[in-house]
Amino acid sequence: MSVRRIPLTAPAPGHERYLTVHEFGAGEHIAYIQAGLHADEWPGLLVVQHLLQKLAELEQAGKIHQTIRVVPYANPLGMNQRVFGVFPGRYDLVTGQNFNRGMALSAEELVARVTPQLTDDAAANDQLVRAALRALVSEKTTEYEVHALHKALLTESIDATVMLDLHCDFGAMPYLFYGKHQVEQGQALAHCLGFPLSLEEDVRGTVAFDGTHTQPWVVLGDKTSAPFARPCFAATLELRGVQDVNDALAKRDAEGLLAFLEHQGFVSDSGAEPQPMAGTPERFDVEQVKLVQSTANGILVHHKPLGSRVRQGEHFADIVLLDRETPQRVAVEAPVSGLLFNLSHAYMVHPGVTLAMIASDEAVGEPGAQLCM
Ligand SMILES: [Zn+2]
Repeated sequence: MSVRRIPLTAPAPGHERYLTVHEFGAGEHIAYIQAGLHADEWPGLLVVQHLLQKLAELEQAGKIHQTIRVVPYANPLGMNQRVFGVFPGRYDLVTGQNFNRGMALSAEELVARVTPQLTDDAAANDQLVRAALRALVSEKTTEYEVHALHKALLTESIDATVMLDLHCDFGAMPYLFYGKHQVEQGQALAHCLGFPLSLEEDVRGTVAFDGTHTQPWVVLGDKTSAPFARPCFAATLELRGVQDVNDALAKRDAEGLLAFLEHQGFVSDSGAEPQPMAGTPERFDVEQVKLVQSTANGILVHHKPLGSRVRQGEHFADIVLLDRETPQRVAVEAPVSGLLFNLSHAYMVHPGVTLAMIASDEAVGEPGAQLCM
């Protein structure tokens, strides 16, 4: 194992920031795993610590066959956001940018650079594309600290064969996002983790960190008929809710990750098994996700547990109004039928804020548009 320290831009005189990168094994294919890009999402930080222990043991035993690169905390900028006892962590305080947006590479530029050199040799094409991706990252400008952070992370990750980004939600069932062009690998990952809910997205539109890794390959596939051997598979894991930080869950998720790494040929004889499925497996397009937004100010009260099936029009929560002469409530009804997979734990709500998310039985959003969360 090697541990590298990647210096980041200093935020102010007298400060120093850096990333830590753990690397195991050696081999052509890279599996890249990071946690905490949204610095207020902590379950993944603990999962990675369990995983690092396992990987160190496997390396000692000679059971790592490719390269596994782990960034145990991907956002030192966000982790330093401590505002009167609250850890915001989701948006850069200088630019307002969501830490998990705005780092996409130009797929058109990639196509222009590599298309003339592509041949019928799929493995050689992969190498060509990965070299071009590394070059595009190295040319990225870094006007602000958040851009320098993204560049540093992408420098470690952009040529990966497998890229897994560990996040969590407010309060949620365990679920994952991956590109709808990679259902087979996505379902293998869901199976290994025991995550019942899979959200599949078209990565041609606005992308997050995961889609930054898959979009170039998808656009190339659209624009050329050249073969590729092993384009990057990327996924975002939503490790339940912000409060779901404990050793039992972290150990389970680390085992699931290891089982997937074994499935993908990065390790062997790890002893890790696919985890028991935490519900009935279901797949939805991201466009099928309906955000339920508040229409009032007040205190949110949920009536249905996570994982419930709701019918359109079903009363599943209340907003208790605080400024009436007598106690009053506004009923929150399901705008669509579907699976209630996300419930807000921010109980003081206001108009426009998201109260819940439902994976519905029909498309309710614009195709190709990334969830604006
Ligand atoms: Zn997140």
